[in-house]
Amino acid sequence: MPPAEARVPRTTSTVLAVATVLAGLAARALLPTPVGGPVGDMLYAMLLVWLVALLLPRSPRLLTSAIALAVCTAIEVSHLTDVPAGILERVPAARYVLGTTFGAADLAWYGLGAFLAGALLVVVSPRAAAVDDALRRVRAEPAPAVGRRVAAVLVPLALVGTVVAAGAGVGRTLSIEAEALVAQVDAARVVLDDSADRVTDDSVRSALSGTLDEAESVLSATPVLERRPGDAVEIRGQVERSVAAVQESRRAFAITAATEARGPLAPARQAAATVLAATDELADEGHGAGRRVRTALRDAVGATDDLLASSGPDRLDGMALGELEHLAADLAALREEVVGATTALMTAQDAVVCPEPDQLWFPEGGRLSDDDLAPIPWAPQHAVRADLVDGLVALDEAYRAEFGQHLTVNSAYRSYDDQLAVHDPTNPNPLAAPPGCSNHGLGTAVDVSMGPEGFDGARFSWMKANAEQYGWTHPDWAGPGGRLPEPWHWESVETPVAY
Ligand SMILES: [Zn+2]
Repeated sequence: MPPAEARVPRTTSTVLAVATVLAGLAARALLPTPVGGPVGDMLYAMLLVWLVALLLPRSPRLLTSAIALAVCTAIEVSHLTDVPAGILERVPAARYVLGTTFGAADLAWYGLGAFLAGALLVVVSPRAAAVDDALRRVRAEPAPAVGRRVAAVLVPLALVGTVVAAGAGVGRTLSIEAEALVAQVDAARVVLDDSADRVTDDSVRSALSGTLDEAESVLSATPVLERRPGDAVEIRGQVERSVAAVQESRRAFAITAATEARGPLAPARQAAATVLAATDELADEGHGAGRRVRTALRDAVGATDDLLASSGPDRLDGMALGELEHLAADLAALREEVVGATTALMTAQDAVVCPEPDQLWFPEGGRLSDDDLAPIPWAPQHAVRADLVDGLVALDEAYRAEFGQHLTVNSAYRSYDDQLAVHDPTNPNPLAAPPGCSNHGLGTAVDVSMGPEGFDGARFSWMKANAEQYGWTHPDWAGPGGRLPEPWHWESVETPVAY
């Protein structure tokens, strides 16, 4: 039998190997990457030293460490070639032995690990060998064979079991964490897709997209080697915060959209109510438009009142995101409905009361308030819509420069009753339109004398050539060949010609 110092008992190298694997798992699980990486490299080299010692128990310590270091180095350097990549492609699990990339610094840590392992063998193996020899001598005696055999089976089994259980524990933890992260990433992708064009600040979506990419890279990282327990938990926190930021921005966007959609609904509702009131009055007088169009508008106004009442700024804060997003769409749709139904009723009323295609019925015709009107400065008994008076004054100044006198105004704004007084329903070609159908009732028309020559005079020619630059025009229906030739009727270019 060789001297005890010359060999490393296999039980010793096995125990050291198992302890090293456990330490490696613990280092991966518990240490931050900057520390865990070098420690892992050292433990890897040490493990190889124990394995070489296991295979060659009688090899000198220095040679054992050198062989282990050579193997580590060869594996690391092989990453500069395509060989390990080819192996990893076929056997993914091989990455736990081969690693995945080349790192020059790793070589130094391997060296340190191999040196420490060699030193440890020098210290430990003489004692271990002595103990082993003693055991062998005991074993050589015949007596307790059964107990020894049981121990010979149970001890390695327990050691291997411990390694497997520790590895399985780390693996299970990583797998549970990954599952939770996968579910969260899937849900977050839906949030990301749904929020396109629905956030006030698009950078929150970019941030979420970036966080999800990070999460994907954590999920695709090699468990234990590249992904430690806690990595997935950490990125989950980031995903949660990114999703919350997107939802908050989406909510702000929905509130703004709802508020903006609500704004024009109130005036549309007001205009509808005005039309309804006027058409109700005409219906009472026997000139009503179709009942169905009036009912449609009345229903739309009712729905508008309900929605306006339930979507006040104080209500928006308490609404869920989905509710808010629907609200904005509902408000916009209702506004279109109200405007459409209003136009439909005006069109129907126009067909009943305004016989000519160039006439348009407006509920406010002849019912403008004094605030909407302004007296014509040189003929203050007449008035036009307040915003049009400046243009008329400018036109008059140019006219006066040409003809040495003001425009002679015979008629301008006419109230409903004034129009009623001049309208003659029994005349088949009435000079004055029915009430509500004349643009005199809108304050956008003036009747000014063109002199006895009418269409053929210098005044009409001058007006025809110049009035438009001041915002006034002579409509086709009043032209020499029109439905009702009236050289004196001039109207603002802002006079509505269609609903
Ligand atoms: Zn007129």
